[in-house]
Amino acid sequence: MEEQRFRGIGVSSGITLGHVYLLQKIQPRIIYQFLIDRGEVKKEISRFKKAVNMAKAEFLKIRKGLPIKEIIHILDAYTVILKDPFLYKATLKRIKDEKINAEWALLKSVEEIEAIFLKIDDDYLRQRFQDIKYVANRVLRYLTGESSDFRGIQDAIIVAHGLSPAETTHFQTNNVAGFVTEIGGRTSHTAIVAQALKIPAVVGVKEITYRVRDGDFIIIDGLHGEVIVNPTSATIEEYYRKEKEYKLYRKEIEKYTHLPAQTPDGFQLKVMANVELFEEVHSVLSAGAEGIGLFRTEFFYLEQMDFPDEETLFTHFRKTVELVSPYSVTFRTLDIGGDKFVSKPDFGEAMNPALGLRAIRLCLNQRTLFRTQLRAILKASIYGKARILIPFISSLEEVHQVKAILKDIKRELKKQGHPFDEHIPLGIMIEVPSAVAISEFLAKEVDFFSIGTNDLIQYALAIDRANEQVAYLYEPLHPAVLQMIKVSVEAAKKAGIKVGICGEMAAEPAYIPLILGFGLDEISVNMQVIPLIKRLIRETNFRDVNCIVNEILKLSTAIEIKNYVKQALQNFPQTLNNIG
Ligand code: PEP
Ligand code: MG
Repeated sequence: MEEQRFRGIGVSSGITLGHVYLLQKIQPRIIYQFLIDRGEVKKEISRFKKAVNMAKAEFLKIRKGLPIKEIIHILDAYTVILKDPFLYKATLKRIKDEKINAEWALLKSVEEIEAIFLKIDDDYLRQRFQDIKYVANRVLRYLTGESSDFRGIQDAIIVAHGLSPAETTHFQTNNVAGFVTEIGGRTSHTAIVAQALKIPAVVGVKEITYRVRDGDFIIIDGLHGEVIVNPTSATIEEYYRKEKEYKLYRKEIEKYTHLPAQTPDGFQLKVMANVELFEEVHSVLSAGAEGIGLFRTEFFYLEQMDFPDEETLFTHFRKTVELVSPYSVTFRTLDIGGDKFVSKPDFGEAMNPALGLRAIRLCLNQRTLFRTQLRAILKASIYGKARILIPFISSLEEVHQVKAILKDIKRELKKQGHPFDEHIPLGIMIEVPSAVAISEFLAKEVDFFSIGTNDLIQYALAIDRANEQVAYLYEPLHPAVLQMIKVSVEAAKKAGIKVGICGEMAAEPAYIPLILGFGLDEISVNMQVIPLIKRLIRETNFRDVNCIVNEILKLSTAIEIKNYVKQALQNFPQTLNNIG
């Protein structure tokens, strides 16, 4: 078999070698059958019950010994869905009444449930149908005999068409070595989870599911976005060496991760951590982070049937604040929507969730949900240092509404005798172009700005961040993006508030000189890159990069900017890897 090489988008660095586990998401093949007599009906009923029990056993098996609470909740929800009357009883009734085989009956039940869900106005609830579909599919696989209990997934490299962020979180428990997908972009949330789990990943590799077979030997290089199928023994040797070198290199730079991120000419940039999964909280300080600059709270809600209650949130937030003390934890309020729930092409595209009731829009629409989060954050705030960050702000009115709600909650907590930090800083994400345009007004209302370049680029350049087909247009060095960063930073400075970047752009070593040159107060990045980012900052003079930034802001195309940066940063070979 010949060695084949494919290019994709490297989204989580590291090199890994192993065997392919092809994750089939296509529907199992179904045979439709009418049943002739009562004997057959009885047989189908027991076949269906057996398949349900097998699916249940599978969920329980995965659940056992799981360290991640969020995933335990997901699996518990799946077990409940298995016995949901609309799915379970309705299917049994169909087998009996309509005299059809179990697969057909189950599909009919799922169709009926889908019709009900499609009538629901609320995006979030409507999307919960995906859980039901997933569970029904597991049962179908047992019925058709096409099931797999994930045996063999251990240490394997997953190859799939696409993966949702929640599916990706399953990989930690199975020690998955890495993954490759056909769809997805650099800043898609699936990529962000891969970084959190520290597993190498390459997305956007066209037709890869057709180019590999289960068990094929495969190499993935998550830094350069390279995938090699059936490598020759020389290639295998070369990559084992590269893997070893990469590990040694990481070990070396990790030694100095606790040094401050201060430039030789005395400029200090606070480097904080982005946290996606609660389990990461334990590693924040050892990674060398000076606090959490972005705690994505949505992962408590991901793929779950019920919203977490105040007590659950409070317990987790308090623990986080305590563990990260004396540094601060920036709790971003719920940012559901966009690609966070629907990486599944059949659902999201038509509704365009990216422009819908996302993040703060949803929170202002579902006040109880928002208040529960804010109460939990406030109550946790006295156990250390906390900040509140509101995503997706697009108008001043939204900030006014948030402040009124916050004021009301503070009054309520006082009345109830719950202590909290009265001066808890309130910040907003600058990630919608309209927020940049009115940043001067917004800056007067809040305590800090956090620029979300992932979304800012997506909305400014009209590029779906999770769509590999337009990934080539996703350009952080587009002059429009750089001008927007400049405007936001200036507005913050003028108002005397702190400003940082928490999007993936700040985690890209190649952009660090520019990020530094903008004169930001802080950045927040995935923990994997902290040692390298801090080292680059320690090796860069602020005055030099500040001059470069001032020059590139005069240029009008990304090409010119790239060429200028390449030329100007010749002494920074490390950083140039990814400037294309
Ligand atoms: C961003 O948009 O840059 C950001 C940090 O938020 P998220 O990736 O969660 O949308
Ligand atoms: Mg965002």
